Amino acid sequence: MDVFAVPGLPEVRPGDDLAALVESRADLRDDDVLLVASTVVSKAEDRRADLDDFPAGPRAKEIAERLEAVSGEEKDPRFAQAVLEESTEIIMDAPFLLTATRFGHVGVNAGIDRSNVGDEGHDLLLLPERPSESADRIRRNLSADPAVIVTDTSGRPFRHGQRGVAIGWSGIPASRDWRGETDRDGHELEVTVEAVVDELAAAANLVTGEGDDGLPVAVVRDWEFGNHEGSDNLYRDVDGDFVRQALRGWEFARN
Ligand code: GDP
Ligand code: MN
Ligand code: MN
Repeated sequence: MDVFAVPGLPEVRPGDDLAALVESRADLRDDDVLLVASTVVSKAEDRRADLDDFPAGPRAKEIAERLEAVSGEEKDPRFAQAVLEESTEIIMDAPFLLTATRFGHVGVNAGIDRSNVGDEGHDLLLLPERPSESADRIRRNLSADPAVIVTDTSGRPFRHGQRGVAIGWSGIPASRDWRGETDRDGHELEVTVEAVVDELAAAANLVTGEGDDGLPVAVVRDWEFGNHEGSDNLYRDVDGDFVRQALRGWEFARN
């Protein structure tokens, strides 16, 4: 397969038609996968915000004080308030804020960005409200019919370093299911469900970068989902998420 970034995209503004911006710079094909950084989806959907929009309540003040004590850095309680308002559950409140967003993604600070926000004096960029609907919308506005994936850069537990993940998708299942297929020794695979949208997002991140490259959109070409069952389960239900359950009973203590 090939992975390439779409060149020449402008600073994205509220109301911009991302599909049109991309299609005037790339000849998309129906079997392409188009990967769009959530940053520009948020800009187009005007998810920019200001710290002043989030007057801190008691819980946010408490969280910010604790984070300050733990990190020795100044923490703005309005930022904690913004994270609270974007989240359905606070999974960890120290030494950083790990929360679940309304659409199921778990991330530090609810994925709120303070970099690449845009140059109009806003402090924050919130994630798209419903990224799979954003992906649907972009797809509907294209004249070709590629799969569309909205990505974000995310850290991971157990490993250093961040990588691209999918937070919304359209026209492609989230995963391909290898269960019931066989390995080279003829053994039946029992558990392997491959999160292809995350793998594609990670590939896209390799060419879009994280800084001032100005490359928020990538195309994966000549990759095939293949003849597999698909599923859209990417976010674990709390019931089946034992790591999340374990964290609920955990308290940060500096040692
Ligand atoms: P995130 O991973 O979705 O949080 O987005 P990043 O902040 O990591 O940005 C991904 C890529 O998009 C980087 O190459 C940025 O320079 C680029 N980028 C961010 N916003 C814009 C924009 O409005 N226009 C253009 N052309 N590039 C942007
Ligand atoms: Mn981000
Ligand atoms: Mn990024």
